[in-house]
Amino acid sequence: MFINGQSVPPVSGLYFDSTNPADGSVVAQVAQGCQEDVDKAVRAAEAARKKWAAMNPLERGKIMRRVAQALADNAAHLGQLESAEMGMPSQIAPLIVAESATFFDYYGGLAASIHGDTIPVSAEVFCYNLYEPYGVVGVITPWNGPLNQAARSVAPALAAGNTVVLKPSEFTSLTALEMARLAVEAGLPPGVLNVVTGDGVSVGSPLVAHPLVRKVSFTGSVRAGQAIGAIAAEKIMPVTLELGGKSPNIVFEDAKLEAAVPMALFGFVANSGQICTSGTRILVQRSIYEKFGQMLAGAAANFPIGRDKNFPTLGPIANKMQFDKILGFFESALEEGATCLAGGERATGEGLDQGLYIKPTLYTNVTPEMRIVREEIFGPVAVLIPFDTEEEAIGIANDSEYGLASGIWTQDASRAHRVAAQLEAGTVFINTFHERSVEAPMGGYKKSGIGREKGMAALHDYMQLKNVTMKLI
Ligand code: NAD
Repeated sequence: MFINGQSVPPVSGLYFDSTNPADGSVVAQVAQGCQEDVDKAVRAAEAARKKWAAMNPLERGKIMRRVAQALADNAAHLGQLESAEMGMPSQIAPLIVAESATFFDYYGGLAASIHGDTIPVSAEVFCYNLYEPYGVVGVITPWNGPLNQAARSVAPALAAGNTVVLKPSEFTSLTALEMARLAVEAGLPPGVLNVVTGDGVSVGSPLVAHPLVRKVSFTGSVRAGQAIGAIAAEKIMPVTLELGGKSPNIVFEDAKLEAAVPMALFGFVANSGQICTSGTRILVQRSIYEKFGQMLAGAAANFPIGRDKNFPTLGPIANKMQFDKILGFFESALEEGATCLAGGERATGEGLDQGLYIKPTLYTNVTPEMRIVREEIFGPVAVLIPFDTEEEAIGIANDSEYGLASGIWTQDASRAHRVAAQLEAGTVFINTFHERSVEAPMGGYKKSGIGREKGMAALHDYMQLKNVTMKLI
């Protein structure tokens, strides 16, 4: 673990294996944390917080930009770790890692621009707002983009003057530990960023419940988000929850198919479908439904699979639990009567048999109540749904308990913005999908979450507002 600027062993003395999903080999032994480790880390963060918050923001920003540089300089090594632990293809992992650095760059640059405002109440009153850090922030992350998701929450929290205790997923602990070590080497004061490894019950819950933790940022499943929200409700503590999705991707008959087909595929196979914003419900206008389905199924069937093939390629599913869950969805799709247009099974063959590979999968003839239509699968699996009118498309798109992302494909700009305004989702992509930028906020409507990550919006989520009113007597 990494507490108060140092690598430390777990109180329990216990370690667990982290395995490579491409071949089942053991990558590392990871420390199993418990409540005592959490307490040590939170106390280190609490001890560091006043000095970090009081530091000149320009100075704070400079340190954060040095952390960005350290992450960028070590992108190849960090990428290797990420690739080994979660299966991300080796050509992609360093790029995603390098993107993690941009969170420190961006929020480091903003640190000195955080300022309050004055409110002109009257000539006799001086009234102003201050934006202050919460104190110790707990950050809990999943396994599908480990360093990226950690940096996405840690960077704005630190820029706002908070200190952090980070709990990475038990499936992917290594890059979080490396990030904290590199950050301290780059000049981050000890205690400002701490990492406790272990599972949700032993480490995650005690972190959320710790009385000195004043805010939690969680990325993961709805189930865990609800458990965290319940503890936060007891404490009256704010939470940012970035949860799941079942995002619609709507293709109108005037769409440029040469762009829409490959991007619809990318929308649900990128990162082997393990992206919360995956476009897994592809709604296609009936006049092009047949043609689009054939083109997409052909592209899906021909998509290269194997971790070390040239880009683009489909890597393995990150862990056995998730792999089995996806295979379970294939069984339920057949039982419920869906027609499989492509995939629907694990991928086998040279270099694939020892790994957790799933073929890109596309279903048609689906009905709204089917599990594959309603539930988040978190694998390279999508359903095709026909629609006739714009109004019908919006109705189908919004018929979900989720509301994370959505896509629109059309050459009619008026229609694009008309539909965007009516979609119940925190992100709308028009004629693109998974377009990434640190500046654009993301987050969920409905069960997809609370609060926002990325952009200026996230920075405000890591600060509390104090109003000061003085009578000029
Ligand atoms: P998960 O909820 O099982 O685990 C996420 C993290 O929470 C892990 O670190 C885990 O140890 C911890 N955790 C689990 N139960 C906990 C509890 N009761 N208290 C505290 N911590 C707990 O999710 P996962 O399987 O790792 O990730 C997949 C899910 O994450 C998907 O639903 C996906 O959509 C979602 N996700 C969302 C986003 C987003 O930005 N909205 C991004 C990536 C993943």
